[in-house]
Amino acid sequence: MLREIITDQFLLSGQSTEATKDDLYIVQDLKDTMHSRQEFCVGMAANMINEHKRIIIVMDNSKELVMINPIVMKTSGRHYEAEEACLCHQGTKKTKRYEKIKVQYYDENFKIKIKTFSDVTAQIIQHEIDHCNGILI
Ligand SMILES: [Zn+2]
Repeated sequence: MLREIITDQFLLSGQSTEATKDDLYIVQDLKDTMHSRQEFCVGMAANMINEHKRIIIVMDNSKELVMINPIVMKTSGRHYEAEEACLCHQGTKKTKRYEKIKVQYYDENFKIKIKTFSDVTAQIIQHEIDHCNGILI
């Protein structure tokens, strides 16, 4: 279901809680909402559609990747300044990102995965995990 994107900074600044199998309907809503904005959307977090659960969706080399309860286990590479945009506000902002991250997460079938991501995909994941923690760029 296509959902409205939240731009209220107060609602977006809350911590999201762990997702369970009962929250899987949110995955489809995130996909539908992201597809409707495909030209400029490379990732979304559930709280952007007012679901305060730790679920994110990111574009990983033009492939959609759903991550449930993602945790960054390790960072490496450069810690560089990036300029990012966000659907939740206008314009771009500067922030610091790690070049490489090792992430533990559950996939759409609630199977645990551990994977290392780098460059743009790593950047998007860090941005969306920040959303889960109520952090906006
Ligand atoms: Zn954002």
